[in-house]
Amino acid sequence: MTTPRIDINIAKIAHNAKELKELYGSKGVRIIGVTKVVCGDSNIADALLKSGISVLADSRIANIHRMRDADIQAQFVLLRTPIPSQIEDVVRYTDISLNSELLVIKALSKSAVKQDTTHKLILMVELGDLREGIMPSDLEDIVRAVIEMDGIKLVGIGTNLACLGGIKPDEEKMGYLSSIARDVEEKFRLTLEFVSGGNSANYSWFISTEDTGMINNLRLGESIYLGCETLYRKPIPGLFTDAFTLITEVIESKIKPSVPYGEVCQDAFGNVPEFQDRGQIRRAILGVGLQDVLVSGLTPRLDIDILGASSDHIIVDAKQIGLKVGDEVEFDLNYGALLSVMTSPYVIKKYVNVI
Ligand SMILES: *Cc1c(COP(=O)(O)O)cnc(C)c1O
Repeated sequence: MTTPRIDINIAKIAHNAKELKELYGSKGVRIIGVTKVVCGDSNIADALLKSGISVLADSRIANIHRMRDADIQAQFVLLRTPIPSQIEDVVRYTDISLNSELLVIKALSKSAVKQDTTHKLILMVELGDLREGIMPSDLEDIVRAVIEMDGIKLVGIGTNLACLGGIKPDEEKMGYLSSIARDVEEKFRLTLEFVSGGNSANYSWFISTEDTGMINNLRLGESIYLGCETLYRKPIPGLFTDAFTLITEVIESKIKPSVPYGEVCQDAFGNVPEFQDRGQIRRAILGVGLQDVLVSGLTPRLDIDILGASSDHIIVDAKQIGLKVGDEVEFDLNYGALLSVMTSPYVIKKYVNVI
């Protein structure tokens, strides 16, 4: 089969999803499966459903639309605060959206009334990471306004940490979210179906906490796909960290110097490159590049080093490995590399161990 290609091991993804569902379920926390890094891939979405996850979330309407078209039977959550010009499609294709702007919520309400439906909302609360979220002091007024609106139902509150600011979802932050949830429930005499404490970064809090409080939900992407938590990128015991494999192919392999010779100016991307002198080395060129993958997020499974990349090539020091033209070279991918590969139309997606 041709390369570049990503082998997607469906059974390993399903295993990870099932383990995480059981682990978090042991303390009353339910899981939303996040599909954005795999662009709403319907084979993967199907594996999540078969693992017992019934709510799926994505940041993009196009991905949710695609999963619906593939007849994926789930409740769909829009993760990113709706783009104002997409309101109609948000109501049409998603069941729930995460929100932080009253103006947007008003537009959702109007559109839901027009489409004769009810759109559900989770209000995001800012707890210090400084991406999306309502400041806690403004929440009460917004809840009051929201519950008055037609076509809209408040079903939860949530927060998102460890994304932009790298802020840890710790006992204090989770305790604070719990107390906010409790206040909202008491003040407005309602039950919040979702108190969504965060993402894959919440693992260490969850493992160490004695009391999850009001937190009853997490939205998980990376830990399902890559088998790790995301504060320190440590593997989670019992999960597969190699569900995805990027497979590339050697297109040139020669003994050459390790340092370019001639007058040094700019490279293809406008940088002035620097190279370490390793003497004469076996330089192999792989038929894959930045148009296929975020090369900095790749780790070779063989003992070889990536020396550089251009749009269409990765150059490696093959070291002691006698790489020959036509040989396949495999890589592990981090989150950024996985995102880029799943987004690139040039990388073939191959599903293995389909359940
Ligand atoms: C991407 C995203 C998630 C999932 O994050 P992971 O680190 O992949 O678990 C959860 N919530 C929101 C709002 C997101 O944007």
